[in-house]
Amino acid sequence: MHRFFVPPEVLTHDPVMLTGEPAHHIGRVLRMRPGDRVLLLDNVGWAYEVELTRFERNRVEGRIVRKAPAGGEPQTRITLYQALLKGHGFELVLQKGTEVGIAEFVPILCERCIMGGLADMEGHRQERWEKIIRGAAEQSHRGRLPILRPPAPFAQALPQAARADLCLLPWEEAHGLSLRGAIEAHSAAGGKPRSISLFIGPEGGLSAEEVQSARGAGIQPVTLGPRILRAETAGLVAAAAILYALGDLE
Ligand code: SAH
Repeated sequence: MHRFFVPPEVLTHDPVMLTGEPAHHIGRVLRMRPGDRVLLLDNVGWAYEVELTRFERNRVEGRIVRKAPAGGEPQTRITLYQALLKGHGFELVLQKGTEVGIAEFVPILCERCIMGGLADMEGHRQERWEKIIRGAAEQSHRGRLPILRPPAPFAQALPQAARADLCLLPWEEAHGLSLRGAIEAHSAAGGKPRSISLFIGPEGGLSAEEVQSARGAGIQPVTLGPRILRAETAGLVAAAAILYALGDLE
C-alpha cells in the first residue's frame, strides 16, 4: 500500500482532505480511484489506513478505516554527522541512510571537504535533500521522517554529538578499538545505548587535529576494518553494523 507523510492536522478530520503533493501523486501519478487505500503517516508515530472516496482537481478525499502505531523505527537512535561530499555523494548517504534506519543527519564541514563550504548550501539544496529523505522514508516504510539539521562546522558539532549514549568516529587510522569492541564495552558498562553519534569524514579523510578534538570531546575513534571505505560508504556500513549488533535488523 502506498504511504505518504502528511501534516498531522490533516488526520484530525474525517473525512481526510489531501491537497498538494500527496493529492497530485495519488490522483495524477498513481491514478488511484475511489475505493483504493493508502497509508498516511502523521510523523508523530501513527499510521492511518485511508480509503479514498472522492477525487477533485488537486484534492483527494478519504475516510479513515484504521489507525495503528507507525512501526518501522529502530530502537537505537543514530545521528550521522556526515562530512559534506562532492557531487551526489551526500544525496546517496541521505537516501541509503534513511533506508538503513538513521534517525538524524547533520551535514558537517571538515577541513578537507572538497565542496566550497557552507556557502554552497543554497536554500534549494536543503529542500532537495529533504525531498530525498521523504521519498526514501516512504519507500522504506519508515515510521518517522529522519531529521536533516542545518550544516555545521566540525568543531561546533562535537559538544552536541558528545551528549549521545555512545559517540563514535570511524577513522581508517584507528587500529585499536573496533566498532564491535566499542558497542560491547558500552553495553557491558551501561546497557544498550539508546542514542549513538557517528562521525564520518570527507573524501580526503579527517585531519589529525579533527581526530584529536573529537577524542577530547569524548568521541571514540574506531576502525571499520582494514579496507578503506569511500566516504559515502562508511556511514552506511557503520550504521547497519551497529543496528545489527543491537538487534535492530530483525
Ligand atoms: N583517508 C582515506 C579517505 C577517507 S575515507 C583514504 O586514504 O582514502 C572517508 C571516511 O570514511 C573517513 O574519514 C572515515 O571516517 C571513514 N572510513 C573509511 N574507511 C574506514 C575504515 N576502514 N575504518 C574506519 N573509518 C573508515
